[in-house]
Amino acid sequence: MTLSLSGERPDPPETADEGVWLACIECGTTFAPFEAVRYTCDSCDGLLEVRYADLPTFEDFEGRGVWRYADALPFEEGVAIEEGDTPLYEVPTIEDETGVADLRVKHEGMNPTGSFKDRGMTVGVRVAERLGVDRLACASTGNTSAALACYGARAGTEVLVLLPAGKVAAGKVAQASLHGARILEVDGNFDACLDIVSDLAARGEAYLLNSLNPFRLEGQKTIGLEILEQFRDQTGEFPDRIVLPVGNAGNTAALYKAFRELVASGALAPEEVPALTGVQAEGAAPMVEAIEEGNDEVRRWEEVETRATAIRIGNPVNAPKALPGIRETGGTAVAVSDEEITDAQRSLARDGVGVEPASAASVAGLRKLRESGDVAADEQVVCLTTGHLLKDPDAAAAAGANPEPVPADTDGVLDHLGE
Ligand SMILES: *Cc1c(COP(=O)(O)O)cnc(C)c1O
Ligand SMILES: [Zn+2]
Repeated sequence: MTLSLSGERPDPPETADEGVWLACIECGTTFAPFEAVRYTCDSCDGLLEVRYADLPTFEDFEGRGVWRYADALPFEEGVAIEEGDTPLYEVPTIEDETGVADLRVKHEGMNPTGSFKDRGMTVGVRVAERLGVDRLACASTGNTSAALACYGARAGTEVLVLLPAGKVAAGKVAQASLHGARILEVDGNFDACLDIVSDLAARGEAYLLNSLNPFRLEGQKTIGLEILEQFRDQTGEFPDRIVLPVGNAGNTAALYKAFRELVASGALAPEEVPALTGVQAEGAAPMVEAIEEGNDEVRRWEEVETRATAIRIGNPVNAPKALPGIRETGGTAVAVSDEEITDAQRSLARDGVGVEPASAASVAGLRKLRESGDVAADEQVVCLTTGHLLKDPDAAAAAGANPEPVPADTDGVLDHLGE
């Protein structure tokens, strides 16, 4: 089966609970959503997707933040601390320099814990409450652990996070720590952490809140819904293209699902769906490899390296959902170097948008695709920036100007300034 923009609406199976069920994207087997803890298909181990009997139109959306989109989510409300409703900025300098018709930056760093992961957690932790689990866990390159620690604390549930030792930015570890998560530093990379935490979850030791969990992606769909509404409010149209950083490809999968559901409800025409364009770091680019080589499966990279630690991932678990998303929307994927990422981080900063390195990959990717001609000058584009500058203060300081020591008197300061 391919996840397509066909607009098909499956009938609810008997296992549906108030019009919500889980379906395997590979073999189509359906499951009751809240009866048992389940992350993948019992029959074939394929990825699961949340399905709904009623699909949303724009008229259904009301209120603010993630829960404005309750009609596209499995619950009416969640464990919420005002996530979502992030700004869609104009970026005149980058727009000029890349020469596209219209460029906006959707800054997901403006969420409560400073990344889009909050959108997934407000839904995921609500589902965990419904399932009655008593320990939440994730593997993380940092931001997932910060968000889970925060939302777990809010829900009063124990949180366990597994981090690759020495490869997580300082701000993110500090967040997980202060919000009271138990932090395990693993002597291995992110993919090893995810293997372990998946095993723990399979043994019933904890409820897994990585993006393998289909409910998290439901919350992250709201990025796509918000972009459509905001872009239309600002320009009168929907964007032609959304460029986003890709790690586990959860967002790519989630945005595609949001658009598929709008097409199926008749709220969006298939040709209005923005082209999903994924950007990875050169040192961790298995999705780009699959797109470039036309492969149906993504080859796991054992060795990965990039300064953009949030996307330092060699085995993108959501690839089976995300590859069709890129292909069916007419998008593409591109890899950028760490230098290109840092340059883009500086450019964003000049336009007043402070982001962590992984976020800047989207702008670096757009630049590259403009140079190669893969993105046309008449396109209306949204770049997604995924995390806040303060997440990775070391990277920001390294990319920016150095402090200058001066004496503690005005004349000395003026001298130093050469005035
Ligand atoms: C998690 C994360 C990503 C990767 O997102 P995926 O949905 O896994 O592709 C990118 N940037 C930042 C800042 C993140 O925290
Ligand atoms: Zn299956």
